[in-house]
Amino acid sequence: MKKGYLQVYTGDGKGKTTAAIGLAVRAMGAGMKVLFAQFLKKGDFSEINALRRFGDQIKIFQFGSGKFVRGRPKSADFQRARQGLKDIEKYMSSGRYDLVVLDEANVALHLGLLSLEDMLCFITKRPPGVELVLTGRNAPEEIKNAADLVSECRLVKHYFSQGIKARIGIEK
Ligand code: ATP
Ligand code: MG
Repeated sequence: MKKGYLQVYTGDGKGKTTAAIGLAVRAMGAGMKVLFAQFLKKGDFSEINALRRFGDQIKIFQFGSGKFVRGRPKSADFQRARQGLKDIEKYMSSGRYDLVVLDEANVALHLGLLSLEDMLCFITKRPPGVELVLTGRNAPEEIKNAADLVSECRLVKHYFSQGIKARIGIEK
């Protein structure tokens, strides 16, 4: 691509991560190469199993610990997120990738696991042809300002409020 844009999927309703997965699938259908990284997540999320089937068209990373970050993040959480962003920067600079997805990056920013300065620097320094997608609720204003596209998934109704936790194949 000549010019890649910055897209942000945020809000408290369902659909942010699945929109990014959908975009990754569409891009690969067009022969594009994808870097797909998940902050705060680790393990057998079904999307990872599905995306692996695309072989070397996609490079997948997970920077979570496998545990939900509750309350104050631990120093290892900061370390993993920061090192993760550096790793992505290195792969991205190869020029091999057309689409870079940073799933739950907005949450990592909101929790302070990633600094706003580092992320804004990452955004500016990316190769001009890279389409970049940041997902997650509570996207900081500065990130929304830097974006070319911001979509908000607004919570109208969610079965979570009835106690229905994330289900395999539907939410994870
Ligand atoms: P999807 O991955 O289905 O596209 P999403 O990326 O938009 O959803 P996230 O904000 O990343 O959703 O939410 C992750 C999980 O948090 C959901 O799968 C759900 O189980 C749970 N969840 C949903 N609503 C709430 C809520 N109001 N408060 C806390 N957790 C919620
Ligand atoms: Mg999500």
